[in-house]
Amino acid sequence: MNKLDAQRQKEIQQAEELLFAGAQALGFAKGLFQGHFVSDWVMPYPRIPEAQEGELVQTLAELRKFLNEDLDAAEIDRKADIPRSVIDGLGRIGVLGMTAPKEYGGRGFSQMANCKLLEEIGRRCASTSVFVNAHHSIGIRALLLFGTHEQKQKWLPKLVSGEQLGAFALTEKEAGSDAANVQMQARPSEDGSHFILNGEKRYITNAAIAHELTVMARTPVPGSDKTAVTAFLVTPDMRGFEMLEARMAKTGIRGTATGRFALRDVKVPKENVLGPMGKGLKVALTVLDFGRTTFGACCTGAAKTCLELAVAHANTRRQFNKTLSEFELVKKKIARIAADAYAMEAMTTVTASFIDRGLEDYMLETAMLKVFTTERLWECINDVFQIYGGSAYFTDLPLERMLRDARINQIGEGANEVLTSFIALVGMRGPGMEFKEIYDTLMKPSRDGISKAWAAGKNRLSATVRVPDVPVQSEQLRSHAQQLGRLIWRFNFAVNRALITYREPILDMQLVQERIANAAMDLFASTCVLSRVDGEIQFTERNGDAASPDDSAADLFLRQSFRRIRGFLAGLTDNDDKAVIAAAKSCLTDSGSGTTHTSGIQSLYATIR
Ligand SMILES: Cc1cc2nc3c(=O)[nH]c(=O)nc-3n(C[C@H](O)[C@H](O)[C@H](O)COP(=O)(O)OP(=O)(O)OC[C@H]3O[C@@H](n4cnc5c(N)ncnc54)[C@H](O)[C@@H]3O)c2cc1C
Repeated sequence: MNKLDAQRQKEIQQAEELLFAGAQALGFAKGLFQGHFVSDWVMPYPRIPEAQEGELVQTLAELRKFLNEDLDAAEIDRKADIPRSVIDGLGRIGVLGMTAPKEYGGRGFSQMANCKLLEEIGRRCASTSVFVNAHHSIGIRALLLFGTHEQKQKWLPKLVSGEQLGAFALTEKEAGSDAANVQMQARPSEDGSHFILNGEKRYITNAAIAHELTVMARTPVPGSDKTAVTAFLVTPDMRGFEMLEARMAKTGIRGTATGRFALRDVKVPKENVLGPMGKGLKVALTVLDFGRTTFGACCTGAAKTCLELAVAHANTRRQFNKTLSEFELVKKKIARIAADAYAMEAMTTVTASFIDRGLEDYMLETAMLKVFTTERLWECINDVFQIYGGSAYFTDLPLERMLRDARINQIGEGANEVLTSFIALVGMRGPGMEFKEIYDTLMKPSRDGISKAWAAGKNRLSATVRVPDVPVQSEQLRSHAQQLGRLIWRFNFAVNRALITYREPILDMQLVQERIANAAMDLFASTCVLSRVDGEIQFTERNGDAASPDDSAADLFLRQSFRRIRGFLAGLTDNDDKAVIAAAKSCLTDSGSGTTHTSGIQSLYATIR
């Protein structure tokens, strides 16, 4: 085995251990890749339990009032700071510890309810929503999920009230998208009482204002010469903690404090280890599931603002003796924003419900939500910017700020390219393993192998002959549901064909992966939309309302999404991939163009951001 192959095998093994250890439940997205529609994950459309609804409505009203009166997004951007009064106000309402258990001073809200609150903040100010996410969705999340009772008792009360703030520190110079490449070292002391941390972190939101930072560092694996990543609770008052840059000047979300810091021989007590030793990447992966869900909520809020702004301007601005709203090319943009905002909300709600129901393994769905909502929001902002014409370009309107703020979304918490690759590769692993079972048995028959291959073959075959049922309640949605079922069937067929055609090299074929991931994302988005509109129709019928709800945004979304899916699948066989690679190769230097050998595996492995 040459060095590259050995490296590749090592990465595959690491990815397998990280992502696929333990029982693998068939979640909704993984089901899509197998040609199944796992309906009980997504239907009926989730609703906030009645018992919680009153408290949510009241909290939402309180939050809206506070944000309307006390949050000035333009000033936060101009001064590049979120005033302490805003942080205190959010703390008072409970936003900084919304999902923390009541016993530690939190509000005990579900993730679905929390998303409704984040949507409200995302509507108004991206700096503030990113600040809240960095603190609550990821900063204190490892403590909430993996902390011992003693750790929670010690740290949480001040963090959930907002008296203290949290941050999540994974990124380093050499560990950006390749998050597994963390270089910060944590060496155990001779007496075992503490760890000595050395290294630097960069691009960390809240770093300079946090009182507690969840820091990822490399610890030795006992009995071997290997190291693995472990999560630590670090406080800035520890000797050797050095803030190198408290507020890095940046394009957007300027109110957030994005920092760079060094740890130089920092002694961290062993009591500050968060979660199991050597399982820091798993901790990070789980934490980011929460971050990506609230990311979806914030993007939904911002998309709703885009719609409001677009409608207001289109209705009032006159050119050619007409309002802009009378032009079809303006209508087209407004319709698309409305359809996307509807879908973003539906996807966020459904994904948050997976967390609330304690379902196992929703990392594909959270990755899909993050990529889908951040890409759609970018389009929404671009559309509303265009509708405003020249006026959008000036700083007296919020659009240029919104444009700057939204650009980080496609990069942070996992660059969208990396997550796209991840979605395709993790999704294809299930059917890929079944094909491998069949292939290995054909090459080397054994009694055990034959029975496993038989089961795998039966599974593959049943998915190719049966169009999955999409069980909607409302008669008027049957046709959309049938189309969705047929598209899932076609998707599964395309996945099988890609796996059979390309075999292992598919791990590096990102252009193929992108089409498969895009189709899967639209299938998930369409499912959430169908589930939501079905729920709304059923709710109206149950309440005896004569008028059906306006489902035009949902209808448009489904039509456009189905058309996109057909396009992605067609692109698998009709494309310019060879020309794309050739044109890129002619621009890239030798060192840049010849290094794709392990990139597929790396993206699979490094998706935890
Ligand atoms: C404002 C801001 C706030 C942040 N807050 C935090 C925080 O609180 N905590 C934290 O830990 N980190 C934080 N980050 C870091 C953020 O998560 C990283 O910037 C992100 O993961 C990308 O890493 P990178 O910037 O090193 O880009 P690189 O890894 O250098 O990637 C650059 C680009 O290369 C492409 N690329 C990379 N890998 C692949 C691949 N496998 N396949 C295809 N294309 C690829 C992508 O287009 C990517 O955008 C923050 C960053 C910013 C800008």
